[in-house]
Amino acid sequence: MRRTGLVYHPDYLLHAPDNWPECPQRLTRTLELFDRVGIRQRMVPVAPRPATAAELAAVHGDDYIAFLEQFSADGGGQLTVDTVVSTGSYEAAVLAVGGCLSAVDELLAGRLDNALALVRPPGHHAERHAGTGFCLFNNVAVAARYAQSRYGLRRILIVDWDVHHGNGTERAFYDDPGVLFFSVHESPAYPGTGWLSDAGAGEAEGYTINAPFPAGAGDLAYQRLFDEVVLPVADDYRPDLVIVSAGQDSHFADYMGNMELTSPGFGRLTERLLSLCSGTGPRLLAVLEGGYNLDVLPTSLLAIAGALVGEEYPTVDPVPAPVDGMSDAARQRIDAVRTTHRPYWPFL
Ligand SMILES: [Zn+2]
Repeated sequence: MRRTGLVYHPDYLLHAPDNWPECPQRLTRTLELFDRVGIRQRMVPVAPRPATAAELAAVHGDDYIAFLEQFSADGGGQLTVDTVVSTGSYEAAVLAVGGCLSAVDELLAGRLDNALALVRPPGHHAERHAGTGFCLFNNVAVAARYAQSRYGLRRILIVDWDVHHGNGTERAFYDDPGVLFFSVHESPAYPGTGWLSDAGAGEAEGYTINAPFPAGAGDLAYQRLFDEVVLPVADDYRPDLVIVSAGQDSHFADYMGNMELTSPGFGRLTERLLSLCSGTGPRLLAVLEGGYNLDVLPTSLLAIAGALVGEEYPTVDPVPAPVDGMSDAARQRIDAVRTTHRPYWPFL
């Protein structure tokens, strides 16, 4: 039986800007479903601790960290055009990062096989000196830096399937071959980064893989991309740890994007990544990023959690899914990803 951790803390609800799509109900509605179907009892609670300033500083500037703490303590407000801070946001954000660090500790100590971090605010847009796109601190980036410095990991795979490009994570590791960053995202779309030719720099050339997907790509296209690109590259890279930036705004019913993934589809992508993790393979940590339709986010997270636990749960979407198929545009984009990265990964 797999030991699957669940990172959560009620203080994740403290980040609560008024009338904001990235809202506390994203977590409370998910936990209601997890309780109702009995999966929460199957998971091992992971108690988050606040990340320290030194841990945050591995990714973020000291002045940004200090500014955010003061801004939140003063009541917050509009940080950028798309990012709002409330009283309590700083505490939530520090604990969101810390929850991921606690999960890394449990995974690398061998006490867990995999884990799901139900944290907020999300992180993958946050850059060194800038919170943006609902994100304050980059949870997965700090977790990867922590796994490097604390445990000496030399190869970490980050897979980002949020509908938006993980610009902050890409930037953090663009010249670091110790982290292989893969992002599949809608393009063109916010934040306007993540182009095919952005493939890493210096000795890390080839260690950033962007798959900008056309609107309308669904389960089949994503699964082909994973089978033809992500899994072969990961097999060759042999990561010590797999971190998923699990943003479910690529769900067909999410109003922040135009992709057509289903809830069971997220489960199948999770299973594919878990196929890398059998036996003495790496541990896997899935960290919540986006996902804003409160009627379907809990179901898609249940599909992910079910895959992690290795048991079947009812993950049929509460609204009818579109007919899945592989468009010519999606097929061409997968081929383009393979061609672009063949110089670095010859088997593609
Ligand atoms: Zn997103």
